[in-house]
Amino acid sequence: MKNNFLVFLVFFLTSCNQVMRQYMGQVLEQIYLTMAKPSTPLILISIDGFRWDYFDKVETPNFDRLIANGSKADGLKTSYPRKIFPNHISIVTGNYPSNHGIISNYFYDADFDEYFYIGAGSTAAQDGKWIDAEPIWVTIEKQAKRAMIMFWPMSDAEIMGIRPSKYYVYNEDPTNLDRMDQILSWLLHTGNARPSFLASYFSVVDSKGHSYGPDGDETIEAIRVVDKAIGHLIDGLEAQNILNEVNIMIVSDHGMTETPDTKVINIADYINLDDVVTVGGGPFMEIRPNEGKLESVYQALQNIDNTQVFKKEDIPDKFNYKNNNRIEPILLLADEHWSIMTPGRTPIAGSHGYDPDYQSMNGIFIAHGPAFKSGFSGPEIHNIHLYEMMCKILGVVPANNDGS
Ligand code: AMP
Ligand code: ZN
Repeated sequence: MKNNFLVFLVFFLTSCNQVMRQYMGQVLEQIYLTMAKPSTPLILISIDGFRWDYFDKVETPNFDRLIANGSKADGLKTSYPRKIFPNHISIVTGNYPSNHGIISNYFYDADFDEYFYIGAGSTAAQDGKWIDAEPIWVTIEKQAKRAMIMFWPMSDAEIMGIRPSKYYVYNEDPTNLDRMDQILSWLLHTGNARPSFLASYFSVVDSKGHSYGPDGDETIEAIRVVDKAIGHLIDGLEAQNILNEVNIMIVSDHGMTETPDTKVINIADYINLDDVVTVGGGPFMEIRPNEGKLESVYQALQNIDNTQVFKKEDIPDKFNYKNNNRIEPILLLADEHWSIMTPGRTPIAGSHGYDPDYQSMNGIFIAHGPAFKSGFSGPEIHNIHLYEMMCKILGVVPANNDGS
């Protein structure tokens, strides 16, 4: 019966003239939008810089509870470069950074003649013109469901003319518990106002990891702090009687490794800085030689101990990092623990952004709720597949992406 109706509809639409077709398309879209219902809520939480093995460093009773009754991957393989913005955007679009356009935390776009940069107060990070792929919250809102987000990179930007139903401009004032309280209070909405997708973000594990290294006492304390925040979320969901009726995914964007100040490569020891523009520094540095200097600069960067150097077109396929104008002509990449710096700069205790093969760069994936197996432990997965997975769970049609 349904099939007969569809055949009729297709026949009818193809036989109408263009104006009629357009009109009918709009009517059908309106019917579809009114009929769309909220999905079982999916709560996505990111813990910046939570390395795959941090659960072993300290007691984490609240994570353990979700893991015991849910699913856990051995690690979340993240996309190059292992920095917050490229990876958070890979998670929510399913694209590698070179395809979604946020190729790093800091980069130059020649067409805009502007630099992208991040941090509280960054106007670039709130500007949708930088992103070339559709985040899950846009997919959701386009399909008449609601997304409510208290901090996720670029959730405070208008993208393709769409914003989440609720969002906050990024700032570091609200505590982790405030963030969980906001999620819990959004879940009290009913009917068509009920959110299908909710997201939030914690920065403390990353910031302590940078300042004190992955084994620092303060970093370990930060793991405890976010475990308590997750406990607060669980308690709140139980109080609303919906702990087993919502899906929860907890992820991170990358890992962390020690970067001692004894392992520094001073770029000025190898090239004349007047010949280039350097972009970034630390685990990697991108380099834009001045006109006519590409070959000599590239040759001068050969054979620096503890580094690899690539011309853009020769970056190995495993990086999935090539086809974007924003990537600079030369990539100088340090081995784990090493930092590439301009003169006068020194590394702090921990960092991330190295080669995709270092396990220390892996993040986490744990999940709980009706969409996930209970007590299931699986192998590493790659973060570009999470967008498709979320679309499937939420019952929405995904936009084009690199995942499956
Ligand atoms: P990373 O070291 O690559 O993990 O970057 C972490 C930094 O990203 C944090 O210290 C914040 O300043 C910044 N950050 C986190 N979320 C946002 C956001 N939504 N908008 C702008 N900057 C952010
Ligand atoms: Zn970081």
